[in-house]
Amino acid sequence: MKISKCSLRKILNPCGLEEHNYQVDPYIGCEHLCSYCYALNKAETDWEKEILIHEDIIGQLTLEMNSLEPQSIYMGMNSDPYQPSERTFKQTRKVLELFAEKGFSVCILTKSGLVIRDIDIIRKMPDSSVGVSIAFQEERTRQMFEKNASSNKVRIEALKKLKNSGIATYTLICPVMPFITNLESVIEQVAPYSDTIWVYRLHIELENDKNWLNVKSVLDQHFPELTDQYRKIAFGGNEPYWKKVRKSLEEIQKKKCLNLRIRI
Ligand code: SF4
Repeated sequence: MKISKCSLRKILNPCGLEEHNYQVDPYIGCEHLCSYCYALNKAETDWEKEILIHEDIIGQLTLEMNSLEPQSIYMGMNSDPYQPSERTFKQTRKVLELFAEKGFSVCILTKSGLVIRDIDIIRKMPDSSVGVSIAFQEERTRQMFEKNASSNKVRIEALKKLKNSGIATYTLICPVMPFITNLESVIEQVAPYSDTIWVYRLHIELENDKNWLNVKSVLDQHFPELTDQYRKIAFGGNEPYWKKVRKSLEEIQKKKCLNLRIRI
């Protein structure tokens, strides 16, 4: 993997998520290579070969944070903060150290077990939370769609360690892959270690988007009978299908008394 420095740009960026005004991506590009990744559609490099890091991330971020009141910053929006290169470059860890020093907190989303390395810093920031993203109930299918991410077992183990360390945890079931994701099974696996479980549907913008071409390629190879059905469901259509999914989630929520946030 080639790691290059990117041109000078803002590090703290607006975040459209509930409860977060800003987000930081310590890496530009993501080695995890999930086929459905929406960020792939605006990739600046070929993520199989090259990702970018900010030059002097701490100097630049310090300047940008100077005018802000302490608050929670989101990490994990367009790249995974714990992708494999983080073991070497520690960009994420440096950012967390700065947040802690300035009285900020963090909300992290990852598909890597490496996050437990930073429990020591995350614990210093009250009101922080860490989530793992899981979309598949078993390993064989996960590998088809999320080539380089940690296994579900490693992610769930990380979630357990984070929760046992007193850190607020969540699971993001995203994207729900029609006819492939078994929601009941995923929820059963993550519920004991998740304070909150968020569920989002698969949504793809356009037929020539990179993420659709990648998903289609996996479907054609492993689930050819589903490709046409995905075409009808993934592009924002087929509300009756999603209505049924939503109803089944509401039933699970009622039966198991879970803190489920359904965004389907
Ligand atoms: S981990 Fe997240 S950012 Fe990275 S490729 Fe997968 S979906 Fe995209």
